[in-house]
Amino acid sequence: MSNIHELDFLKEKIEDLKKEGVYRKLPVLEGGNDAEVILNGKKVINLSSNNYLGFANHPRLKKGAIEAVEKYGAGAGAVRTIVGNMSIHEELEKLLAEFKREEAVFIYQSGFNCNIGTIQAITEKGDLIISDELNHASIIDGTRLSKADKAIFRHSDMDHLEQILKENRDKYNNVLIITDGVFSMDGDIAKLPEIVELAEKYEALTYVDDAHGSGVLGESGRGTVDHFGLHGRVDFSIGTLSKAIGVVGGYVAGSKVMYEWLSHRARPVLFSTTLPPAAAGAIIEAIKMLMETTEYTDRLWDNANYFKEKLGKLGFNTGNSETPITPVIIGDEAKTMEFSRKLLEKGVFVSGIVFPTVPRGTGRVRCMVTAAHTKEQLDRAVDIFEQVGKEMNILK
Ligand SMILES: *Cc1c(COP(=O)(O)O)cnc(C)c1O
Repeated sequence: MSNIHELDFLKEKIEDLKKEGVYRKLPVLEGGNDAEVILNGKKVINLSSNNYLGFANHPRLKKGAIEAVEKYGAGAGAVRTIVGNMSIHEELEKLLAEFKREEAVFIYQSGFNCNIGTIQAITEKGDLIISDELNHASIIDGTRLSKADKAIFRHSDMDHLEQILKENRDKYNNVLIITDGVFSMDGDIAKLPEIVELAEKYEALTYVDDAHGSGVLGESGRGTVDHFGLHGRVDFSIGTLSKAIGVVGGYVAGSKVMYEWLSHRARPVLFSTTLPPAAAGAIIEAIKMLMETTEYTDRLWDNANYFKEKLGKLGFNTGNSETPITPVIIGDEAKTMEFSRKLLEKGVFVSGIVFPTVPRGTGRVRCMVTAAHTKEQLDRAVDIFEQVGKEMNILK
């Protein structure tokens, strides 16, 4: 018998990953997350980040971080409910609420924490959570932590959602409908106006996770709720500060009552230390930049449209994206990973995404164009896609 501490049960699973061709090592960046990066020692065009606006390594954010460190120190020193709630956290929440055009914003250490903390705090036994089948892993985990019952509706299928509402509404106290604002693997936008109408018809609450809509959709990146003009009609609007905003953190925007309750019951905030001052300082600068000008989001959309059009013209299958997320669907898992590997060899880093992140047989490389890319970099990337596409008979 082998020693249990050698973790043979995990080694076997790792062998399976290798057999499926999906085993990988974590890529290592030497330096900031820019449009071109030094990856494993080689300079490549970066089409893999969520750094939509190029804020992650922006001088104004860095300055905001440094000034916050000098005034408040390196860490918050305690959970917010004890003595870790600094004036810079309050300032950040007020600014975010103004930006989001909502009454209040409650911050978490990440978007992931926001979902696992908020969903369980606002639901209980006797409630029903109805969730889109393609919702993010953190929503799935957050839902698992809730004592409410759960139902899944087919992706963006409003008839199915209505059927679940019709059959179940009377059996429950509260019903909470949860959807991603932008679906991260395909780049499609939730049918939020229809979801809100159904919610109003059946007296349900609505919860939108706008991780990929924050800083991308709506006026200067105010998000999916703003994009559709649904202010006041979505109860819980989640954003991340880790993607377009370029730093780290998550938040839920909504009513003052929501804020009061979460500050008593959101477990990741009650039992885990809040954002470090540097993060808060950098985020405050990012939000100010978005409130000053739409130039960052304009450039993001311009670059994304430019790149998507060029790939489409070459004959790649870019799916049904309505946002800067640009999937190039290859299908087979191993072929997808090979495509990604060959792109990297030629100087483009775009990660392969396969089962279990997306359904089997729908493997893709997911291109993330940002405001920071130059047209020259995008042209160079398109050329490399064409070369590899032809080499692997993906393009005719
Ligand atoms: C990325 C993502 C998250 C997690 O956000 P972090 O701030 O990185 O923890 C949550 N929900 C969705 C839909 C996401 O895409």
